[in-house]
Amino acid sequence: MAQAFRSTRVLTAGGLAPATLLVEDERISGILSWDAALAGAALRDFGDAVLLPGLVDSHVHINEPGRTEWEGFSTATQAAATGGVTTLVDMPLNCLPETTDVMALEAKRAAAQGKAWVDWAAWGGVVRGNAENLPALAASGILGFKCFLIHSGIDGFAWVDEPELRLALARLKGTGLPLLAHAEVTGPVDAATEKLNAAGADWRKYATYLASRPDAAEVEAIALLIGLAEEFETPVHIVHLASAQALPLLAAARLRGAPVTVETCVQYLWFAAEEIPDGATEFKCAPPIRRKANREALWAALEEGLIDMATTDHSPCPPAMKRREEGRWDLAWGGIASLGLALPVMWTALHRRGMGLKDGMERVGGWMGAETARLAGLTGRKGVLAAGADADFVVFDPDAEWTVALEDLRFRHKLSPYLGTELRGRVRETWLRGEQIFGPDGFTDQPRGRELVQR
Ligand SMILES: [Zn+2]
Repeated sequence: MAQAFRSTRVLTAGGLAPATLLVEDERISGILSWDAALAGAALRDFGDAVLLPGLVDSHVHINEPGRTEWEGFSTATQAAATGGVTTLVDMPLNCLPETTDVMALEAKRAAAQGKAWVDWAAWGGVVRGNAENLPALAASGILGFKCFLIHSGIDGFAWVDEPELRLALARLKGTGLPLLAHAEVTGPVDAATEKLNAAGADWRKYATYLASRPDAAEVEAIALLIGLAEEFETPVHIVHLASAQALPLLAAARLRGAPVTVETCVQYLWFAAEEIPDGATEFKCAPPIRRKANREALWAALEEGLIDMATTDHSPCPPAMKRREEGRWDLAWGGIASLGLALPVMWTALHRRGMGLKDGMERVGGWMGAETARLAGLTGRKGVLAAGADADFVVFDPDAEWTVALEDLRFRHKLSPYLGTELRGRVRETWLRGEQIFGPDGFTDQPRGRELVQR
């Protein structure tokens, strides 16, 4: 039987407004007026709660198979469901084997069987020496590729330089699949680190870590990537932009019509270097969280559309690897755990910045739904409430106030810089393809997530 869901605040292509979603066979079959006559459909009325599209997080590290003690499909996808995220796209490193050939992808598919609570997809890896694997990987259903221009933290996922990027882009050209790049080059990082060590810098201080990853590393990498994207006429995506100093380059590239897209991460929009305690390695990520003025510039770029989207880069590890007791930024694993918190964090930030509910929900739906879906080639299928899309939606209470506690974290290791943060807005229910997967009583009895493949 058809189902219908209505509220006075539904985010569709027309903005946040009263509407009814009609759902049949896992998909939205129509967007109707709030008071539409519904012959033969079971109606659920959500009152004034906000109905958002299920969010798409195009940057997460699930770490399975191979490092399931770090994270895994079951815990990562449950965390996603509690935060209104119905699609995760998994990065190709941190799992073993790394997703750099089709056999590794098949191992990942086998590992995900029966464990995914939300839908998921894979990015493949571009690493030193795997150019010959790329055509087969491109045809295997992955949504695109990821590479590093600096050491990734994982020895088995080797970074690439310009000649290797050229080999890869020549093979990606024409596939329509984007190349996602960790945009820091080694030169400025190595030089800064040597200088700090020569001066006997204290690696417990956040200022030392920040100085060791200078803006120039991002700016140089982004200049190189823009040039290659234009030369090969192949889409390149800058993941986790942290430095506002790269924005002028990106603005100029956008004006020229370069096939370049950009994301920043929620942590770069929420935290600032001035507020990070020395030794608090749960804040360590790369590129690093920069200063307040930089954060303001990132917000401005996001609001004007120069930065296209926001992701989490959820990248946890066993707590011991954060070496919290020593508090040394050079020795701690880099990666922030936050999956499930992005929607309330972003709404809290926008609310504090004076944005109203309608604008705020429309912006968040774009940055964390429509745009991340576009990057992943899932436009029309995920990240929007529109006829033909999967019936994935979130019931969001925008006025709930709460403080992040251990029991709110559903990922494997409960170490996160957001613990204790006061937030506004809470996910009440999450629906995946027409079925509730998370609600007041917790999770449904069975994981129903599927892999999304490119066709
Ligand atoms: Zn990442």
